[in-house]
Amino acid sequence: MDMLGRKIVVASHNEGKLREFADLMAPFGFEAKSAKEYGLPEPDETGTTFEENAYIKAFAAAQATGLPALSDDSGLVVDALDGQPGVYTANWAEKPEGGRDFMMAMRKTEDLLQAKGATSPKDRTGRFVAVICLAQPDGSAEYFRGEAEGTLIWPPRGDKGFGYDPVFLPVGFSQTFGEMTAEEKHGWKPGQPTALSHRARAFQKFARARLGSE
Ligand code: IMP
Repeated sequence: MDMLGRKIVVASHNEGKLREFADLMAPFGFEAKSAKEYGLPEPDETGTTFEENAYIKAFAAAQATGLPALSDDSGLVVDALDGQPGVYTANWAEKPEGGRDFMMAMRKTEDLLQAKGATSPKDRTGRFVAVICLAQPDGSAEYFRGEAEGTLIWPPRGDKGFGYDPVFLPVGFSQTFGEMTAEEKHGWKPGQPTALSHRARAFQKFARARLGSE
């Protein structure tokens, strides 16, 4: 992809996401350079949709570096909670004293499910959503959305991955995302038709559209 060169600015400070982007891009010979490496501040995510927040982050990085930038806005959408935490997935982990605690966030989700009486798997469905935005310094943008369907389990299982991975059981699997290796969670290799995780699915769409991958 001539327009992007070999380096892509990934407009994120989230270590878990950056690791996954680096994994997903490596087979294409692309290097993920984080917004942090460019010394870019984290813009406020003031949007109410994944697309709006993905654009805010990607455009801020594209404008600051003069390079095309890729961002991901993602979150967990729980059906019994009317789609919460959704775009506020990261916010639910914010501690009053600063920093993030995902165990606390997973417990909050569980407490709300319990309060709704959602104890059987059929009442605990949801999906991870990732929207990747490729923004240009001139403000134009393209979007690629990926979703992974699953159920919320309790107690959390597994210490791989990040965020809410330990409570997410993808449909058709007996291991949570937190119990899977990165490769199993992506479920995707170049040349293979299917991806598993929301981020890998979104990235696969991006790769097909912009990197010439089958
Ligand atoms: P944001 O996109 O920066 O607003 O943050 C999304 C939040 O969703 C992250 O902080 C994670 O808590 C959660 N999240 C997104 N993708 C994943 C994933 O692949 N596994 C676990 N949690 C995720």
